[in-house]
Amino acid sequence: MINLVLFGPPGAGKGTQAEKIVNRRNLVHLSTGDIFRRNIKEHTELGDLAKSYMDKGELVPDEVTIKMLESEVDRHVNSNGFIFDGFPRTSAQAKALDAFLETKNTSISVMLALSVEDDELKKRLKKRAEVSGRTDDADPDIIANRIAVYKSETAPVADYYKAQNKYEEIEGIGSIEEISEKLFDAIGSHE
Ligand code: ADP
Repeated sequence: MINLVLFGPPGAGKGTQAEKIVNRRNLVHLSTGDIFRRNIKEHTELGDLAKSYMDKGELVPDEVTIKMLESEVDRHVNSNGFIFDGFPRTSAQAKALDAFLETKNTSISVMLALSVEDDELKKRLKKRAEVSGRTDDADPDIIANRIAVYKSETAPVADYYKAQNKYEEIEGIGSIEEISEKLFDAIGSHE
């Protein structure tokens, strides 16, 4: 089993690259942002709660996010492994994920961190807003808050995996294929 954490700031290209990895490796892709957006669309209780945070560019509380993620993993008991995209986003989530995977006799293989500089991220999010319809992409203040939250709460998660020698940084600039190849190489070195 191989379990990947795809990491990087909003707009780094996690969704695009997750798709490439899924096609190559037949893994289950769990994007917490996508799952929240699906719940918002379906007007579930979880969706209403998540929306109140997402609309401000804040994180959904850990307890809610962790519970949701665990139930999604449990829905795919026979999978070859997972790509966690947008999760873990806090140190508490990272610890909870390790503890949970241990109960399944498995663990994270590697964190793949896509690095892209701030100005480029802002440009990409603005462009994405024109096609995605995501309200959190359309407002520069919300984007700025998401990047700030990323730096204060999410960036430290990288240290958690560095300490376990499970951290690989890949530059998220270049063609989609070039970046995918670098990701495949990094995955290969942790199998
Ligand atoms: P991006 O990576 O572009 O910010 P996502 O789709 O991953 O977009 O996340 C959108 C929003 O969903 C976040 O700003 C946050 O409010 C919420 N969210 C997603 N994943 C998590 C998580 N693991 N913990 C808390 N909130 C989350």
